[in-house]
Amino acid sequence: MNTRIRYSIVVPVFNEEEVITKTYRRLKQVMDQTGEGYELLFVNDGSRDHSAELIQALSETDDAVKLINFSRNFGHQIAITAGMDYASGDAVVVIDADLQDPPELILEMIGKWREGYDVVYAKRLERKGETWFKKQTASLFYRILRASTDVEIPVDTGDFRLMDRKVCEEMKRLSEKNRFVRGLVSWVGFRQTSVEYVRDEREAGETKYPLRKMLKLSLDGLTSFSFKPLKLASWLGGALSLSGLLYLAIILILKLSAHSMISGWHAVAIIQLFCTGMILIVLGISGEYIGRIYDEARDRPLYIVRDSFGLNKRENKADS
Ligand code: UDP
Ligand code: MG
Repeated sequence: MNTRIRYSIVVPVFNEEEVITKTYRRLKQVMDQTGEGYELLFVNDGSRDHSAELIQALSETDDAVKLINFSRNFGHQIAITAGMDYASGDAVVVIDADLQDPPELILEMIGKWREGYDVVYAKRLERKGETWFKKQTASLFYRILRASTDVEIPVDTGDFRLMDRKVCEEMKRLSEKNRFVRGLVSWVGFRQTSVEYVRDEREAGETKYPLRKMLKLSLDGLTSFSFKPLKLASWLGGALSLSGLLYLAIILILKLSAHSMISGWHAVAIIQLFCTGMILIVLGISGEYIGRIYDEARDRPLYIVRDSFGLNKRENKADS
């Protein structure tokens, strides 16, 4: 059974013990239909449940199963990156572990890849079983992102996609620390196309993306692909100075026409609060960029691998 690995399926896993065996079965069922060699590369992102043990057991009975254990939780985007670093297939597919992305769609992606496309991303027509808040904020975020960047990042797509080997190789050259993988894939270019699907509900368990992680991902997306937030300072500054001048003019006119002056400290307090708020917001935005510059300057490795199973190179590669 030494068939060449044609497809690598990268699955980031964080506390998915309830669903992981089922995911494995569905993936296997789909991939067997291709009749070609493949690997199922699970990246365990510091799970605190039994996900790692379950996958390790699978790897002992099935050569296609490979497991990389991180030394702690590094985050979804980093787990995907590690999977792409270790994948050896001619085409690499990234898919969530919770079966929200239907594995059957992979066959359709492979079809497009064979037609000559280098990236096939899955576009969500509908998202089932997700809260109104999550859908609305996600939709708003994708639209803000599109309006503020020059890179064409497709709206309503996640990380469920197929990438050709050459795209993966280019991705490996992008060393940035705060990664927004779907944006980077768009940035890399090549021939890209989409397949459409209805995003299912999570099979089991609950989302591993609390609001805090979603905010971080959105900020990474915005700051990695746009300088527009930084320019906000100039625009706000300009607008506030103008309104100050206008206010001065009004007061002068009132004074000259001997009307009574607008008095009271309420107006002053409100203006003071408003302006200080603006200044702090702008400082905060700059801080987001400065923090990311600091991350680049420190140049720590992206992730640390504790151990791995089923991979040929067994050395604990802790590269970036
Ligand atoms: N995930 C991960 N590390 C994390 C959070 C999530 O590897 O810190 C994985 C998770 O196991 C799943 C995928 O990323 O395979 C997407 O997470 P989730 O389904 O919780 O996100 P949602 O679909 O709710 O946006
Ligand atoms: Mg999910």
